[in-house]
Amino acid sequence: MERTVLPEAGVPAEALDQELDSLRADDVHGHWARAGRGPPDVQRVAQAAYARFRDDNGIFSLRAPAMKRIEGAVTDMCLSLFHPPPDAGATFTTGGSDSNYSALHAMREWAREARPQAREPEVIAPHSAHPTMSKGCHYFGLKLVRTALGADRRAAPAAVRAAITPNTIGLVGSAPCWPFGLYDPIPALGEIAEEFQLWLHVDACVGGYFAPFAERLGVKLPPWDFRVPAVQSISADLHKWGYCPKPASTVLWRRDDYKRFHYVHPSDWPGGQYTTAGFAGSRPAGSIYAAYAVLRYLGWAGYLRLARQVLADKERLEQGISAIDGLVALRTDLLPVAFGAAPGVDLARVKGEMANLGWTLLSTADPPLINLPLDAAADERVLSTFLKELALSTQRARAAGTAREELRY
Ligand SMILES: *Cc1c(COP(=O)(O)O)cnc(C)c1O
Repeated sequence: MERTVLPEAGVPAEALDQELDSLRADDVHGHWARAGRGPPDVQRVAQAAYARFRDDNGIFSLRAPAMKRIEGAVTDMCLSLFHPPPDAGATFTTGGSDSNYSALHAMREWAREARPQAREPEVIAPHSAHPTMSKGCHYFGLKLVRTALGADRRAAPAAVRAAITPNTIGLVGSAPCWPFGLYDPIPALGEIAEEFQLWLHVDACVGGYFAPFAERLGVKLPPWDFRVPAVQSISADLHKWGYCPKPASTVLWRRDDYKRFHYVHPSDWPGGQYTTAGFAGSRPAGSIYAAYAVLRYLGWAGYLRLARQVLADKERLEQGISAIDGLVALRTDLLPVAFGAAPGVDLARVKGEMANLGWTLLSTADPPLINLPLDAAADERVLSTFLKELALSTQRARAAGTAREELRY
């Protein structure tokens, strides 16, 4: 393959503009790959705030007074949604990965004090927990023990309990998990965490900024936040259903002083003390100010309105998918919308046919599912085109699937 070289003479801005524009997927078919945007008015507010502060560097968020105040206001507003005890705290991060790493890192540092006998520390997470748990444990020298799910595809407390060893330092539950949109039984995990004195982390990257509003609208969810006394940390992504521009996420701490397990304060170089809010060094300050703008623009009323819309769209999508011969919508607690194929239909082929029509779809392998991160930017054009082309793709996949089986036998 030929390598791209730095051009001798620069490319004119206009030509670049055209080239880059031609790379963009259209708004309808590229929709799912741009998940986490609000409707157009929210996007305008977010983009204006982001653009204004785009060139500032978030590395200074602990030092520059205005940025520190705004980041603090964001984390205060966020924390208030999770039923926090009075001395809880929060940290702004660059994404769910970063938030989960922050929690695993703090868990490890806490365990060095609280569980010194755990020489080769282990963390227990259900099979459905996000792969950032595996990545984080790898980075931090922790052993991740994944437990089998129950028949309901949620974490099975008995399996978690059976996996505990003298080296176990913490448990992880999802609220909800990405593949199935299901809440793990956080209260039951909490009882185990209390009994064995373990750190319990809840990965609410998907649900963190949707569930508080869905619950206010009457959606029944098992307790998943600081209402469960054993929960020590929660990760929640502002850049998913918080409708804030990436990169923006939060990790919430039961006690603000857990930040002593989070921060690292190196000063062993010529530049003196180097402390940052999280793992990232330089980062776009635009996302801090944009999160502030979006949270304040929407307020409770705005988030409730968008949650009501997404819940209605979810029902419409699930009914539309179930009405397609050969597809089965999964029953999820919240989000994402997930569906699989009936016998005789190869879901990978459905995905392939959709890709031929220009759709970028997310999926999980075990069992085969397509996951739709349905957000408040999904408008009538997206929903109706999606359902129409999904029906067509399923029909094509069904035909292809039979032909392939005939060939095989
Ligand atoms: C998206 C997600 C993450 C990772 O978040 P990024 O923002 O992509 O880094 C972690 N956990 C869950 C459950 C997620 O859905």
